[in-house]
Amino acid sequence: MTRRATIEELARWLRARDGFAVIGHVSPDGDAAGSCVAVAAALRAMGKRAFACLPGGMPKMFSRFAGADGVIAAGAKPPFSPEMALALDVSDEGRLGAARALFDGCAARAVLDHHATNPGFGDVCLIDGGRAATGELALELIEALGVPLSREMAEWLYIAISTDSGNFSFSSTTPGTMRAAAKLIEAGADVAGLTRELYRTRPLGRTKLLGIVLSGLEVSGDGRMAWARLTDAMFAQAGALREDSDGIVNYLLEIDGVEFAALAETRGAATKFSLRSKEWLDVAGEVAKPFGGGGHARAAGCTLEMPLEEALGAVLDRAKSALDARN
Ligand code: 5GP
Ligand code: MN
Repeated sequence: MTRRATIEELARWLRARDGFAVIGHVSPDGDAAGSCVAVAAALRAMGKRAFACLPGGMPKMFSRFAGADGVIAAGAKPPFSPEMALALDVSDEGRLGAARALFDGCAARAVLDHHATNPGFGDVCLIDGGRAATGELALELIEALGVPLSREMAEWLYIAISTDSGNFSFSSTTPGTMRAAAKLIEAGADVAGLTRELYRTRPLGRTKLLGIVLSGLEVSGDGRMAWARLTDAMFAQAGALREDSDGIVNYLLEIDGVEFAALAETRGAATKFSLRSKEWLDVAGEVAKPFGGGGHARAAGCTLEMPLEEALGAVLDRAKSALDARN
């Protein structure tokens, strides 16, 4: 039976328990990675046993930050056998990926997330779609637990909130987002250093991949839709990692006049989509959900079990209908 909890209730739930696996989603972004590392560290600061687990391990782009090395991949031997699970930034059970067995194997499970589409798949769930990042909720949780913020926790929460809010620029950014950031800076988060590492530094392979993908971009006749393809061959040609595709879709969205952008990426026999809208189209509800995906109104995703061109056609048809419905 799922209960919708308050931060205080979730803090009480955690305080009364021990032996935690703190789990983020597949293809972890800064919000999943940062929230998991910070909350696991806070639980350990309370004298509890806790470790962070990201399905594919810590993405390379975040591995340079202190504390990244304590994170395990799903399937790796955990430091102890966990009794409790806490899923952070995981919008549905499927997004646990290879960590699903770890989550399901725990005696009790909690979910803390900011995706409004989250069905609430734990015993205790707190879902607040009004937050720019799960990191905002993780900060409140750590405060409710009464754990003083270490500089390391502050930096990971800053990574979480800054990356998910588009470095404090998306419409999801609220006064609460800024207040959370202010607290993190007070606790020692180095804004200039983190900004340089997160937004002004990229590997050569990532830069080359961007060029290859954008050279093949297409725009609809009316200029409202932009899309591009991402194949295994492109990764190989660029010498890029899977995680290097992150953010490319934004370049499509930033084209003047585009309201809907899609990046279609081959994943074995399936095709994974990154979907974005600029001002009004609800890409989670209107485009991702009909294909079994989800996310937010302006940033969503889905995976179709079909080859790239067929999948792209289906997604663009759906998006076109949604765009036409408004006019
Ligand atoms: P991205 O394009 O960065 O991979 O994902 C954008 C947003 O959509 C993220 O908030 C992510 O959680 C969500 N998302 C991406 N793919 C899926 C999916 O297959 N299912 C669901 N429910 N959400 C997704
Ligand atoms: Mn998030």
